[in-house]
Amino acid sequence: MSDTFDVLNPATEDVVKTVHMASADEIDSVVAKAQSAWPAWRDLAPGARADVLRKFAQLVSESNEELAKLEVLEAGHTIGNARWEAQNVANVLNYMAGGVERLNGHQIPVPGGIDITFHEAIGVVGIIVPWNFPMPVAAWGFAPALAAGNTVVLKPAETTPLTALRLAELALEAGIPENVFNVVPGFGKVAGQRIVDHPAIRKICFTGSTAVGTSIMQASASQLKRVTLELGGKSPTIIFADADIEKAAKAAPGAVFDNSGQDCCARSRILVQRSVYDEVLAYMEPVVKEMHTGNPADESVDMGPLISALQRDRVQSFVPEGAPVLFQGDAPTGKGFWFPPTVLAPISESDIQYSQEIFGPVAVVIPFDDEADAIRMANGTDYGLAGSIWTRDVGRAMRMARGVESGVISINSHSAVRYWTPFGGFKKSGIGRELGPNAIEAFTETKNVFISTED
Ligand code: NAD
Repeated sequence: MSDTFDVLNPATEDVVKTVHMASADEIDSVVAKAQSAWPAWRDLAPGARADVLRKFAQLVSESNEELAKLEVLEAGHTIGNARWEAQNVANVLNYMAGGVERLNGHQIPVPGGIDITFHEAIGVVGIIVPWNFPMPVAAWGFAPALAAGNTVVLKPAETTPLTALRLAELALEAGIPENVFNVVPGFGKVAGQRIVDHPAIRKICFTGSTAVGTSIMQASASQLKRVTLELGGKSPTIIFADADIEKAAKAAPGAVFDNSGQDCCARSRILVQRSVYDEVLAYMEPVVKEMHTGNPADESVDMGPLISALQRDRVQSFVPEGAPVLFQGDAPTGKGFWFPPTVLAPISESDIQYSQEIFGPVAVVIPFDDEADAIRMANGTDYGLAGSIWTRDVGRAMRMARGVESGVISINSHSAVRYWTPFGGFKKSGIGRELGPNAIEAFTETKNVFISTED
């Protein structure tokens, strides 16, 4: 296997940069350095650790435009989205910095003494990141891991290492000591696998496909290594006849096609109560057809390219000749990994487009009859990450929210990820939660201490 990788601009196919890919030996040497940097970082007073993370957040904020442009170049994200993503990194760092100073344990009433708990840092944490949201997903792992007093070895995805490398430089500039936050580009099967197998790495925080997540969990089992897994999704939008139909229908395409559908929370199954099925499609059609796909650096563009030729071919395989394309937007031709926003209907529950994660701009629309039918269909895949429920009946909204087996539900909205609230999946969408008030605890071990007060 080559020891370099050409990072391509997915909108032009030009090489942005050739990046060195770490060998297993190089991972070992980074892990050894992260191990020796750990005690000093762990023992830094909480307020001091918080301060340096706040400084890191400030530098990320000040570098917003630079980071966003890098994300456009290597990932093809629209510039507006990329600015949001860079700011999300700063916000998450600030939020976790606040958490360092509130990492409270319990004082538990017990007979014969006093009982208290501590949240102890784990050690060296391995963070493995996908290409679809390279900056935020990295930060959802490294910010709480560092806040808890761990050192980090982070491997970005092959195709999108550049923003993570820049973030590591900003961390050093902010005063995070050498070898505390290490970003090491590499291939999944070489560097990623070594991070998973390395005995000194005590926790893996992985975001990516369910297939790789499963293999990571298997490999971690032999060492009882802790894992957080954020995996795939096939999330539903569920529109009831009593909803604000125009609003729900017009919002549905954006909830699938944002980031060109390369979003683990994409609401790629649009379930519509049968009596309003035609009405919903009538509102959706112009929205999809008017979506502007093109140069992601252009401020007016709604959708950029897919990440790679491989991903484009994968998405295309879900829309073969003769597929039931109900309507489609357009996309540039020529260089770049383009795919138009595409709506498939009629579709049945046995079709692969209904059950498998496509991870591209392809939605299916399918009717349901009543609440029971909607819950059965919403829960009818292996995944359980997100979901949106559109209805004006508050009782129904809550029954549905409780009935749908997903980690992140929104009602009359498509909101999924907010750094203040927990994020993660049921079933094959993952294990554990990121973000929210308990995020830091996922990067700690609880220690219980009993102090006798007897004479
Ligand atoms: P992927 O699983 O192919 O790769 C993810 C990362 O794992 C990459 O860095 C890759 O190099 C590494 N990797 C690959 N094989 C490995 C191995 N054997 N050992 C260790 N590391 C290995 O996923 P992808 O194609 O980059 O990302 C798309 C997937 O990520 C989709 O399924 C998507 O739903 C999921 N995702 C989930 C969330 C979430 O929070 N639930 C967020 C974003 C993406």
